[in-house]
Amino acid sequence: MTTIYYEKDASIEALAGARVAVVGYGNQGRSWALNLRDSGLDVSVCVRADASREQAEKDGFRAGDVASANQADVLCVLIPDDVIPLLPLQPSERALTVLASGYTVAFDRFDPPGDIGMVAPRMLGPEVRQCYVEGAGFITAVGIHRDVTGTALARTLAIAKAIGGLREGAIEMTARQEAILDLAVEQVLSPALTHASGSFVGAMLEQGIPLEAVVTELVLSGEVERTYGLLRREGFAQQMEYHSPTSQYGQLSRRGSYDKLDFASRMRELVDDIVSGRFAEEWDKERDAGHPRLAALKSEHCGDAIREFEMDLRRRLGPGVRRS
Ligand code: NDP
Repeated sequence: MTTIYYEKDASIEALAGARVAVVGYGNQGRSWALNLRDSGLDVSVCVRADASREQAEKDGFRAGDVASANQADVLCVLIPDDVIPLLPLQPSERALTVLASGYTVAFDRFDPPGDIGMVAPRMLGPEVRQCYVEGAGFITAVGIHRDVTGTALARTLAIAKAIGGLREGAIEMTARQEAILDLAVEQVLSPALTHASGSFVGAMLEQGIPLEAVVTELVLSGEVERTYGLLRREGFAQQMEYHSPTSQYGQLSRRGSYDKLDFASRMRELVDDIVSGRFAEEWDKERDAGHPRLAALKSEHCGDAIREFEMDLRRRLGPGVRRS
């Protein structure tokens, strides 16, 4: 059975006297540094000399450049995955390197000496801080990639606990499992959901239903979001009771309507791009070229025309849709 770690399984004492370096001060980095310090650890921030370093110093941290992390006992490397292999990191054999994503070690992009652990929050960076401050938890994926010292698990769990990542439980996964799942949600599931939503919008427009009303139904009313909230909190079977009998009958009687469409074959092909390392190679080339395709894709799918349509609709629908 899959192991799930909780706060009782970890002790921050495993890091007593340890110097913890947080490398990077972006979405995850700032939240981790603040949470680790509030949990009583000795934290410094290692980041380029720019606005991020100024922010870290303003937040009261000792700050140095990225290479200064090599002196630390624990390095939490919180830098975009494509950049991590380019960093001048060479920790000691006794050190522990903690990654927030399995990507770099799963695809052999990064191999620092010493212990390597993974603490991957299933939570956006700024929310990692917000949850900690609120006393709430968030789920993490935790795994040990290499244990040289025999203390990798105890130290990795201590970091997970200190950022607030064991309050709701941490699922034990290998770096490769975490990376495949994470990339597959982005590259396999998300395009499928986008395609399904796009087909639905088309079918509604053919019926003369205004685009604004369809987008509202899908996103802006917040109904889908709240339904997902119920799904998370109460489960599929229980939340069904909150739908009308017409809705229940409609949903359940049409449930198998797409079963004959072969989604799975295309999904397997996309998963194979990830598992084989083809995506990692493509992403390295994109990084080395300065991300030109990413810029073109963002301009095509998240460009000015789309932003203006969305902003206009939000303005016209009133303040409710802008509230979080
Ligand atoms: P960010 O994009 O927020 O990281 C920005 C930080 O990386 C900044 O400190 C920036 O420094 C530094 N950085 C960027 N490029 C370089 C470079 N070439 N040299 C030195 N430093 C650089 O990253 P995230 O916090 O989003 O991600 C960090 C890790 O967390 C990744 O492994 C990611 O997969 C993982 N993760 C992220 C989640 C999220 O919600 N964002 C969720 C779960 C895991 P500067 O300010 O000087 O540019």
